[in-house]
Amino acid sequence: MIYIGCHLSVTNGYEAMGHQMVDFGGSTFAYFTRNPRGGKSKEVKTEDVNALNQLLSEKNFGTLVAHGSYTMNLCSANPETRANGLDMLKKDLEKMELLPGQNYNFHPGSHTGQGVDVGIEQIAESLNSVLTPDMKTTVLLETMAGKGSEVGKNFEELRAIIDKVELKDKLGVCFDTCHTWDAGYDIAGDLDGVIEQFDNIIGLDRLKAIHFNDSKNPCGAAKDRHEKLGEGFIGMEAMRRFALHPAFQDLPFILETPNDDEGYIKEIATVKSWFDNI
Ligand code: FE
Ligand code: FE
Ligand code: ZN
Repeated sequence: MIYIGCHLSVTNGYEAMGHQMVDFGGSTFAYFTRNPRGGKSKEVKTEDVNALNQLLSEKNFGTLVAHGSYTMNLCSANPETRANGLDMLKKDLEKMELLPGQNYNFHPGSHTGQGVDVGIEQIAESLNSVLTPDMKTTVLLETMAGKGSEVGKNFEELRAIIDKVELKDKLGVCFDTCHTWDAGYDIAGDLDGVIEQFDNIIGLDRLKAIHFNDSKNPCGAAKDRHEKLGEGFIGMEAMRRFALHPAFQDLPFILETPNDDEGYIKEIATVKSWFDNI
């Protein structure tokens, strides 16, 4: 089995997200640690977080996958943007400790012309300055589509970041199916081959979460436009094969598909139905 859910808004607090996902029929969810575009962070109330924690264990949820802000860029050529990103990361990780044992996923960054090697260096440097031995959160690098100057468009780049981080046991990877497809990995035609590459280069033990999206573009397009399950170029049959693959069992699967509530409820039910007869 897998845990399935989607992105939720934190507007009504933490416990409310848990109840909402129970209503949606899911067993995990993602949320932005702060406004994804503006970067503002809301105060977290201890009672609210504790109530969510209790609900998660009562309902046997999988691990959650919080998402860092899109404005956070740890490898921008602009030192101010970099410093601002590092400040966000630090504060987000402090906040994550209120909900111990969850995942914090972020886009590694865009090197904005500095070159990928400098990007990798700066991302790792930032991580080395915020990861601590006693933290309970796992920090996930997301596989990226390779749009613009994004770092993390192939497994080697993620591996290179991991190699430069000291506290490697705090690090994992979030595999975004749309991004990885757009980056040129054919998860529809050669899923086993892609998984083998991932395992050889990064190691499947690092894989902690899946962003489960179809893509509006063909494999290798480097575009990053998510599509509803089955309505994109990856297609429903390949999405199904992916979810049922032994390599991904027990992981949290997060839908980031272009949907309203009804659409997510439907997709969650669809994914769950794949596991009914096995
Ligand atoms: Fe993302
Ligand atoms: Fe994603
Ligand atoms: Zn994306």
